[in-house]
Amino acid sequence: MGPGPLSLNTVTVKERWDLAECIEGCARHGIPGISPWRDVLAAMGVDAAARRIREAGLSVTGLCRGGMFPAADAEGRRRAIEDNRRAIAEAHALQAACLVMVCGGLPPGSKDLPGARAMVRDGLEAILPEARAAGVTLALEPLHPMTCADRSVLSTLGQALDLCEALGEGTGVALDVYHVWWDPALEAQMARAAGRIAAFHACDWLVPTTDTVFDRGMMGDGVIDIPRIRALAQAAGYAGAVEVEILSHRWWREEPEEVLRLMRERHATAC
Ligand code: ZN
Repeated sequence: MGPGPLSLNTVTVKERWDLAECIEGCARHGIPGISPWRDVLAAMGVDAAARRIREAGLSVTGLCRGGMFPAADAEGRRRAIEDNRRAIAEAHALQAACLVMVCGGLPPGSKDLPGARAMVRDGLEAILPEARAAGVTLALEPLHPMTCADRSVLSTLGQALDLCEALGEGTGVALDVYHVWWDPALEAQMARAAGRIAAFHACDWLVPTTDTVFDRGMMGDGVIDIPRIRALAQAAGYAGAVEVEILSHRWWREEPEEVLRLMRERHATAC
């Protein structure tokens, strides 16, 4: 079985193209899916974006992103929940397959990791009724543990699945090869993930990696066995898109036409 349909996560060309150009680029390159970030979505306007995406015949494989729940005080946590409610409404308007959740790191100055994890769970519980009512799946994305302090205290697929089981209907996982490839429990956890994978994000891990956030590689240029992880996802019932999400100062300098051309090529040969 080959990889699922290709999708462009807009962050891949973020310094070069706005959302309108991404939509046109996907249509021109025969890429059937798109996954916008909320900043480019806001710049275009949600209703206009929903219309243009629909007119271009693209499916929205995710909206990036909700989450970022932990905060130093109750007011900060309340504001985060409000922002997540807006994100759910946007995902609903776009008919997105999911809202990708980057759950947040430690509040500034805090060393209380269990406390931050509790804030994540509380935040998810608070917004879950709206997500269910809107038919929006909250796709919990475990992030590589190197980002535990500042981006996500949710670090492994096993942890994400534990949360899904605790929270129930309306939750799933966003599986990003960059974040899970190193995990010795990956195979065992993928068997648990059946029916819960809401998104599959692809890029590659370069050696050496010069920036732990903004030096992701094009699929095939690094050390991740992407076809193996993709096959595990398919064995767990995932039949959705392969969404290319490359945060990279190097790729942001490239001509987007070339990035999309290469994405299509590597989707066929390295995914
Ligand atoms: Zn991702």
